[in-house]
Parts: sequence; C-alpha cells; structure tokens
Amino acid sequence: MVRATRSINFMIKDKEIVHCKPTATVEDYLAAIYILERDKEAVIGARLAELLQVSAPTVTLTLKRMSHSGWIISDEKKEIHLTDQGCELASSVIRRHMLTEWMLTRMLHMSWSQVHAEADKIEHTLSLDVEERLRSQMNNPQTCPHGNPLPGFEGIAADWLPLTEIPLGTHVIIRRIHEHAEENPDLMSFLETHNILPGVQVIVSEKLDFNHTITLNCTGEMLVIGFSIAEHIFVELIETEE
Ligand SMILES: [Zn+2]
Repeated sequence: MVRATRSINFMIKDKEIVHCKPTATVEDYLAAIYILERDKEAVIGARLAELLQVSAPTVTLTLKRMSHSGWIISDEKKEIHLTDQGCELASSVIRRHMLTEWMLTRMLHMSWSQVHAEADKIEHTLSLDVEERLRSQMNNPQTCPHGNPLPGFEGIAADWLPLTEIPLGTHVIIRRIHEHAEENPDLMSFLETHNILPGVQVIVSEKLDFNHTITLNCTGEMLVIGFSIAEHIFVELIETEE
C-alpha cells in the first residue's frame, strides 16, 4: 500500500537527509504564496509580512528555512515561487481550509462570517484521510462558502469581475469574497449582516470616483461600500431585458 507522504520533506544538511514536517506557520506561508501567485501578484517578503502580520525579519528567516526545505525558490528579482512540492502542499492546506469551512457551515451551522477564522485553527491538524472524507461528504465543492475556488478549480472564477470594474446600472450576482477580505472578521460580519453573500443579486446604482464609494441596490436596501472593499467582491454579470 502506498502511504501518503504529504507531510514529509527531505532536507539536505551537511550531506545528511533530515525528514521535516511542515509546521503550521510554514503551511500558512505556503497558502499565502499560492494565493498571490494564483492572482499573478509578485510574491515578495514585504507583501507576505503585510498579509501574515509579522515583521520583515521574521519573514526573511521563515523563507530561508522554507527554501532550505525545498518548498520555495527565489528568482533573480528576489521574487518567491513555490516548487512543485511546495505547490502540492499549499494546495492541500487550502483544500483542508475550505473543506473545513464547509463542514463548520453545514454540520455545525456556524455563521458564514466566522467559519474562516475557525478553519484557520483546525486546518493544520487534518490528515489526508480526513481531507478525502470531508471532500466526499461535502460533495466535492469547487469553491469555499465565500466563493473562492478550491485549487484546481480556478477556471470557474475566471469571468467573475471585482465590483470596482462594473458599469453603473448593471445587474450582477455576487459570486466571491476574496480570501484577503476573509481575514477581516469585522468586514465579513458587515457583509453577512447586509446579505452581501455568494448567490445574491444586486444592482450597481452609484459609483463616486472622487469619494471612492459604490452604492449597491440590494433589493431595495441601498448599501454604500468603499472601493477597498468592492475590489474584493467578485460578481457575475446578469443579462437583463431592457
Ligand atoms: Zn472561505
């Protein structure tokens, strides 16, 4: 029987091979790097420090360890890339996170705005076996409850546009709240309270470039949001009969 080797990495140190298990911190870095690379954003230490809310020297140290362990490489511009092995592990961490979000939503009926933070604590402890069972129990979801695609399903989100790019008067369906917004519990709770959730239809009724705000008509209720929030909300255009 072939045993899964996801958690085992080989590190060559002084000609001796050491088996290393990725820590929760390393898994968090891998997931953050995967998301930046997926979004075609340059992965540099400063951006990781900002996203993971750690100091620049801490990031440098962790990246050095990850490079020695073979999870990442950096190019001549000092940009970071996942190795094949790093990408495989990052995909697994993100899958475990998203499947856990579904489990908390469907089985424990936790609120949509809270499951991300809870899944952050649980995801590192799941085995490959539990990941597989969850995937099948949750009926192979292609996105998380917030609409972000599971690794390998990025294609379904390809035509969804951020609200900041939608012309006035357009009818849209909300599809996705970006992972970076999921990190902000106050924002997620605000969106949940105002029913800005995947599957909900809204109309872009006002856009004030000088004020950096967009007003959404949510079946009668007018909701004003800033561009910095709107750029994390991805929508699908609906064909309307004029
Ligand atoms: Zn999510």
